[in-house]
Amino acid sequence: MDQRGDGACVGLDPLTKLCTLYESRPQTCRDFNRGEALCLRTLGFPEPGKS
Ligand code: SF4
Repeated sequence: MDQRGDGACVGLDPLTKLCTLYESRPQTCRDFNRGEALCLRTLGFPEPGKS
């Protein structure tokens, strides 16, 4: 997926932090585990064990 200037996916709604095309998302997104370090970093949350 293309990314915005901040690295976020173009499918991600910047306000709701929800996927705008969730039902037709790519396989990579289906394989990606919600809450992984990259997910948390993208959403601006601290990663477990780091503060
Ligand atoms: S699930 Fe995939 S398409 Fe949807 S916002 Fe996340 S990276 Fe983008």
